[in-house]
Amino acid sequence: MNTDISDASRRALVRIWNALKGALFPLTCLKCGQFYLQRPGRNTPFKKGVSFNETIQTPPSAPLFSRLMTSYVCPVCAQQFTPVESPCCTCCGIMFKSREGEDHLCGECLNTKRYFGMARAVGVYDQALMAVIHGFKYGEKVGLAAPLSILLLSAYRHFWHDRPMDVVVPVPLFGRRLRTRGFNQVYLAIRHWEHRKWKGALPTFPVVAREALRRKRSTPPQTGLGRRDRMQNVRDAFEPGVSHAIVKKRILLVDDVYTTGATVSECAKILLKEGAEAVDILTLARAM
Ligand SMILES: [Zn+2]
Ligand SMILES: [Zn+2]
Repeated sequence: MNTDISDASRRALVRIWNALKGALFPLTCLKCGQFYLQRPGRNTPFKKGVSFNETIQTPPSAPLFSRLMTSYVCPVCAQQFTPVESPCCTCCGIMFKSREGEDHLCGECLNTKRYFGMARAVGVYDQALMAVIHGFKYGEKVGLAAPLSILLLSAYRHFWHDRPMDVVVPVPLFGRRLRTRGFNQVYLAIRHWEHRKWKGALPTFPVVAREALRRKRSTPPQTGLGRRDRMQNVRDAFEPGVSHAIVKKRILLVDDVYTTGATVSECAKILLKEGAEAVDILTLARAM
């Protein structure tokens, strides 16, 4: 009886504290910059009674994004998330303007040599997802690694459920940039995949090979460059790292944003040369 009372009062106290904390320390939305209050009970990325395994069974969507980003994006902005959906290019994943019809190769993939089989992303590179990626890369919001990792895993499960990959390779950063930022954000976002707790979520879980690629030289940021300049910019920028993990393996190469595919294509070329069987691409966002 006494335990019941103390449990009830403890729960009440926790509720009061959470409400007070929310009012005293409102969160700032990464997208609109406004303060907002975290809805009580919303400080966990998982819905009550819904396990992690069930969470990643859902493909990326605005409700999933909203739930995972509750500490970073206000409820209004969190709705501005567009998942990558069919009809899109079977190779590079660009979404077609006409929202009806089947997936097929886009004009650019028909005319360009691609070193990867399929590229897919969690969502379209705009609005809330763009703000979150910027916060993660430049705003030192390292806590975003876990929710982004879940989104990547949900996209991986959704797009690759019928043909699992063996190894996950992050696109490496150059040493100097790594030192200024202090971390390779791409590796950070997939590092959670190595977590033992997560491994039950898929029938076969790919192995993370952090050192399969190395950046040879620093490259100026790709932002603002056209397709041809981007390709030039990354040519010979990477070299093979510890390659024994990739021989005869199907590789999932992970990067933050797919714009023209210049960076991932260059990396895929090296991985194939080093003996990889096939390379596919998964990114957090796809520029459309
Ligand atoms: Zn907002
Ligand atoms: Zn394409």
